[in-house]
Amino acid sequence: MNIGIVGLGLIGGSLGLDLRSQGYQVLGVSRREDTCHMAIETGVVDDASSELKLLAVADVVFICTPIAAIAPTIKQLIPHLSPDAIITDVGSVKTPIVESVAPLWHNFVGGHPMSGTAESGLSAAQRNLFAGNPYVLTPIETTPLKAVEQVEQIARSLQAKIYHCRPLDHDRAVSLISHLPVMVSAGLIAACTSEGDPAVLELAQNLASSGFRDTSRVGGGNPELGVMMARYNRQELLRSLHRYRYQLDELIAQIEQEDWNALEQQLQNNREARSHFSSCKG
Ligand code: NAP
Repeated sequence: MNIGIVGLGLIGGSLGLDLRSQGYQVLGVSRREDTCHMAIETGVVDDASSELKLLAVADVVFICTPIAAIAPTIKQLIPHLSPDAIITDVGSVKTPIVESVAPLWHNFVGGHPMSGTAESGLSAAQRNLFAGNPYVLTPIETTPLKAVEQVEQIARSLQAKIYHCRPLDHDRAVSLISHLPVMVSAGLIAACTSEGDPAVLELAQNLASSGFRDTSRVGGGNPELGVMMARYNRQELLRSLHRYRYQLDELIAQIEQEDWNALEQQLQNNREARSHFSSCKG
């Protein structure tokens, strides 16, 4: 089977490494010629080009560009594809992509491999990036079952754990466990740095330890990624932020009213609830 990958960065490159080792013929397309040469030299792809016509022989194409380029790339790709080809994408937000691409190409399956690192670009690509992690597929009523099964089979070969859900449910869930933490953590850093007394701020900076390091990590990351989350998952992120503000107000009220029983009960509930989130188990 010929697999095409458009966008040879962290995710596209890591896919290429794993899929080639599974015996698939992998054809890569990326914007820059340098990236294409490097992808061939490092064994990420069998062949690469900056031109989409390379994918005329592809059976399944993974679109791994930044989110903003996914739908425009698919529009440019369609004239080159065979009519039975399946397109899937790896974008971290699903509703806007599925809504814009499904009407263009019948055999389209929205996808999101929930794996990554803090790095980006082809040099950050690594083997087994997807193993053991969730891979979400977001078919809609009109998505052909055969196309879903084909993409699922490939995702399974990466040793990923497959989940199926509606695009909107994906975006809601991801806003809660991925995009909300970035904004909460960003707010935490901003709250600390807004301390008006320079001596207290300096002392806080010197005393900061593992608690601050852990809770500030995602809010102090790549600003482009944070803006991407807010821009493409705006509705769901706002919904999560309003929920968070409600919880913050509850905590403030409990502390203002010195309602230590209510606060303790809330913290007990949270301790138990946290263990139900997969990365916090065990
Ligand atoms: P990345 O490392 O920056 O890679 C994207 C690559 O796409 C770039 O290296 C660039 O390569 C190429 N590219 C950019 N615009 C292009 C275009 N118009 N046409 C063709 N190639 C283009 O980004 P990434 O982290 O792999 O993310 C890619 C996608 O995966 C995004 O949609 C993101 O939402 C999704 N995703 C990311 C993560 C994560 O943790 N990073 C996790 C899951 C899903 P050249 O310019 O060098 O050719």
